[in-house]
Amino acid sequence: MSQTLKAVRGTRDLLPPETALWNRIEATARNVFARYNFGEIRTPVFEDTALFARGVGEETDIVSKEMYTWSDGERFEENKMIAEWIDKNRSTQPHNVQPGRINEQGTPSFLAKLNALGVQRQVYRGIQQGQHLTGVTELVCFRPALSTDAISALVKARVLAKSDPSSQLQQGRIELRLVIPTSAPLNPWVERGDVSIEQFEGQFFASSQSLTLRPENTAGVVRSYIENKLGETGQLQKLYYIGPQFRRERPQKGRYRQFSQIGAEVIGPPSSGSESPLRDAEILEMLATLLDELGITGWTLELNSVGSAADRAGYNETLRAALVPVVGKMCADCQRRAVTNPLRVLDCKVPDDQPIIETLPVIADSLDEESRKHFAAVTAALDAAGVPYTLNHRLVRGLDYYTRTTFEFTHGGLGAQNALLGGGRYDGLSEMLGGPRAPGIGFAMGEDRLVLTLLAALDQNSAVEQKAEAFIAPLGESLNAAALILARELRHQGLWIELGEGSFRLKKSFEAADKTARHIVILGEDELKSGILTVKNFSTGIQTKVPRGELAVFLAEPPRE
Ligand code: ATP
Ligand code: MG
Repeated sequence: MSQTLKAVRGTRDLLPPETALWNRIEATARNVFARYNFGEIRTPVFEDTALFARGVGEETDIVSKEMYTWSDGERFEENKMIAEWIDKNRSTQPHNVQPGRINEQGTPSFLAKLNALGVQRQVYRGIQQGQHLTGVTELVCFRPALSTDAISALVKARVLAKSDPSSQLQQGRIELRLVIPTSAPLNPWVERGDVSIEQFEGQFFASSQSLTLRPENTAGVVRSYIENKLGETGQLQKLYYIGPQFRRERPQKGRYRQFSQIGAEVIGPPSSGSESPLRDAEILEMLATLLDELGITGWTLELNSVGSAADRAGYNETLRAALVPVVGKMCADCQRRAVTNPLRVLDCKVPDDQPIIETLPVIADSLDEESRKHFAAVTAALDAAGVPYTLNHRLVRGLDYYTRTTFEFTHGGLGAQNALLGGGRYDGLSEMLGGPRAPGIGFAMGEDRLVLTLLAALDQNSAVEQKAEAFIAPLGESLNAAALILARELRHQGLWIELGEGSFRLKKSFEAADKTARHIVILGEDELKSGILTVKNFSTGIQTKVPRGELAVFLAEPPRE
């Protein structure tokens, strides 16, 4: 027996009824984003690896150990080989073929047919026969390797040339030639027939490209902003996305290798107001609204400012110096970070290190006047709007591109994976990716963790249970078609209908209906003739006779929420 295949570790299937909850979350998010004037962006799921190396930062956990990266196979450059081969063999006199040289030939309509077969060219080659120079027509196929497929394409092409008047080759000799790169192996098991195989010298493979499944979406959005010249509109861009991200992490509850993020970015040239602290406050206020509308209570917004790139660099040095006398007592990771990236010491979770970390200088004291003012304006706007937050001096976030405001929304119900979403300002990211100056701010929310939080908070069943308005039970297979018509009528009127099957006994129909629908509608010969249907409501247990014309209204009552 063959082994059953399973979903890859760290990935999983989402099934009904839970997918209904996912859809509800996404619909709520889209609705909130629209009210804040965000538009949707969809970027590719994989990108050039360099985008993440530069955009996320080589030193981060994501890039250094969590990415799915592969080298995309070598690509055969067919057109380059054809062009070089023709150049090398072409007769110097255009209308005259010389010995061993070729001229390109073929009527356009026949060439199109040749191409459809995978044979790219027809040429006329000069051959010396004693005193005389004559020629022979060759059909030429260019491939990355010798293959049965190429040989049979050529043989078919010759049959076509002999039978199709558009070839103008019905008389005369036709030879077949397969051109492959010298590097290609001459597979001895391939039956060659009378095809001449030519190994042609040259470099015909484009070097492979390193690609990566996106581990996050901000770098892709900023790449797209630059590539599509969105900055040239002069407008502030407000973009949101919903989609899968991929990280090779150790799978556990709330941590998967394919997971989904809902995120948004506000980015634009400085003249569009993209640097304003109002943008930061608006995003944070929007997130508070979104979480409230999703029904998530008890979230905490943690807020910090990591200042400008210069502030961060200065703080790194202050931290490095402050660590020298104490780092010997800290964990091995911290000893390494103290040298490579002192800021990351603040992320340390080792309990014994915590009292030491509490004594280290805080980044707030390293901010310059501008960053200080910017942050004060963000918190003042949040205070005014009544969005609660707590300041967390240690919130520096893993990604290298953050500047000024950084934040995280956490939720107690998630245990160790308590971060629901994270984000911040990234004023230098566009320039790091070779784009124009384009300050921005954004966030990414873990949709999987949102679902876990909602499932834990709500009564599981009421969160996801959904039932059709009616189950139609035909009494006998001869009524199946009539039942389909009735279902169609009701569905066209907007009702949610499940369709039974006439081979079911009435008892089985009732059981199936009770599981999936709020009502059962019985359709027998009498009901069909009289147009009066028997309907039972499962929650009240009442059975009613309803005229067909009033059925839709009857079933829809009481109105669904
Ligand atoms: P964590 O500290 O939990 O590893 P992170 O800092 O790596 O999170 P971000 O890169 O900020 O996460 O991504 C934003 C959000 O995406 C997180 O707050 C989390 O909700 C979610 N997320 C990140 N990694 C995963 C994962 N492997 N599985 C599920 N959700 C994830
Ligand atoms: Mg992580």
